[in-house]
Amino acid sequence: MVDLNNSRPIRATIHTEALRHNLGRIRLAVGDAKLWAVVKANAYGHGIANVFEGLRGADGFACLDLTEAHTLRSMGWRGPILMLEGAFNARDLEWCSRLNLWHVIHTEQQIDWLAAHKTNEPQRVFLKLNSGMNRLGFTPERYRAAYARLSALSQVDEVSHLTHFSDADTAKGVAAQCQVFQSATQDLDGERTVSNSAGALLHPEVQTDWVRAGIALYGSEYVNPHFDFALQPAMTLEANIVSVQDVSADASIGYGSCFIASHTMRIGTVACGYADGYPRHASSASHGAPVLVDGEASRTLGRISMDMLCVDLTHLPQAGIGSTVTLWGRAKNGAILFVDDVASAAGTIGYELLCAVAARVSFAVEED
Ligand SMILES: *Cc1c(COP(=O)(O)O)cnc(C)c1O
Repeated sequence: MVDLNNSRPIRATIHTEALRHNLGRIRLAVGDAKLWAVVKANAYGHGIANVFEGLRGADGFACLDLTEAHTLRSMGWRGPILMLEGAFNARDLEWCSRLNLWHVIHTEQQIDWLAAHKTNEPQRVFLKLNSGMNRLGFTPERYRAAYARLSALSQVDEVSHLTHFSDADTAKGVAAQCQVFQSATQDLDGERTVSNSAGALLHPEVQTDWVRAGIALYGSEYVNPHFDFALQPAMTLEANIVSVQDVSADASIGYGSCFIASHTMRIGTVACGYADGYPRHASSASHGAPVLVDGEASRTLGRISMDMLCVDLTHLPQAGIGSTVTLWGRAKNGAILFVDDVASAAGTIGYELLCAVAARVSFAVEED
């Protein structure tokens, strides 16, 4: 075997201390509620193994895929794990038994699988109400019948209640869905969980037993403006400048000559492109997307290529080959670029960028 380490200068760093900090901030906001750390999509692209240390202070983990639950168990997590969409087929229930997983029930078919499941240990389930998002769950009319059917099964230990908000972060808000949830679950025994990050942070009046926090743990800024919540980015994506070009007025930069210099400029070429997960759509913003060059604000110029992107160094004479470009996260001088600001230049949301960091980017965990 040849011992090859890729030396292309791009890396993602996961900040354990930022994860702990964000968890603490969310705890302050939700009072007595217990907290699920949502780690679906491989912990929103951060890597489950990379975030485990920072998030193990949560009361439970919430996942989508069995492999994620398995990873958590093999890292020694013995506490609650909730499968957010429950079983995708009857065999998944075997794994729920083996790994002691709590799981969501949102269809009659899932109840059928459970009724046929052979297990000595009854399972804890979360019955999902469709309170208005119309994506998953039992309608209010059918909710009580599903609850009664589940409660009667010997395979079921305890039934809890769950719904999901469509508008926790919009002007529409959560009041109507809360009302539906309230009346559908009235008088039924069992713990309750309704809020994601935006629900928990922007609607603290909504109090339930469990909060399901995802994006806020990873330090997305989008809940901050309402709050001044001081969340910290849990991931920094950075790369180095590998080439510098001096161009004169009217020179074009990159594919399609989309950017034309209006004056003499200094251009830095950075070892990061869309094949690393950086959004190509960031090119379409007329002012490019924000970046930090050695901690100083700058922007991308022209199209994002597969393996490279160009940034403006005209106002940064100190910068050159080897300078560190923060695509999002925290720079060495402490400056922060929130992934949300890059996402908005690309017409998307921070979630999508975090989840899309490519496998070819190497990850490291910073312990404090
Ligand atoms: C992903 C997810 C969450 C977490 O949402 P955030 O907006 O990331 O906090 C909560 N509940 C369910 C059911 C989810 O699928």
